[in-house]
Amino acid sequence: MQVVPDTSATPPAWAAHDLGPVVISQDHIAARVHELGRAITEDYAGDPPLLVGVLKGASMFMTDLARSIELAVDLDFMAVSSYGSATKSSGIVRIVKDLEADLSGRHVLVVEDIVDSGLTLNYLRKYLEARKPKSVEVCALLLKEGEQRVSLDLRYVGFTIPPTFVVGYGLDVAERYRNLGGIFTYTGPGSH
Ligand code: 5GP
Repeated sequence: MQVVPDTSATPPAWAAHDLGPVVISQDHIAARVHELGRAITEDYAGDPPLLVGVLKGASMFMTDLARSIELAVDLDFMAVSSYGSATKSSGIVRIVKDLEADLSGRHVLVVEDIVDSGLTLNYLRKYLEARKPKSVEVCALLLKEGEQRVSLDLRYVGFTIPPTFVVGYGLDVAERYRNLGGIFTYTGPGSH
């Protein structure tokens, strides 16, 4: 197989206009996702978790992470919409798509794209705990430095990043840029 260079460190031409520098390249994401997968494989060896991916932002992370876990995990997805401005959440969350799986007596591992204020996750955790799972833990790809407004217990974190608005690898602005392989600073309309 041909070795492909890491071109994800620079934004592709179709997206370059609204993007700043790369925050995490595709190669770095892949390496870290593998490490997280290994840690989860060890930690849950006796009792594989139900992975709960939060749509749509965690879609890429969820599918890559699931393939890095060498256990018989089950996958389910939720979709939430959080009220607020385009780039800030309010903590008021609406469940747009609920889980299909029964959580009682199971280990649940929530797979999130990014934790900013922590309000969305705080709401989700309470919502899931009410369904009597054995445990609820969180695996977040990104954690924004110094932005949390609630205390969070994140068992797995991929990367801690500065508090700028980012896109790529599942993260969007108005549904755009989710298909970028790397994660980039967004500098287009609405950014500040
Ligand atoms: P929180 O409730 O923690 O403030 O916000 C979490 C949600 O806001 C994330 O799941 C994500 O949908 C969105 N979000 C927060 N920061 C960013 C960011 O930098 N980029 C994008 N695209 N979405 C973000």
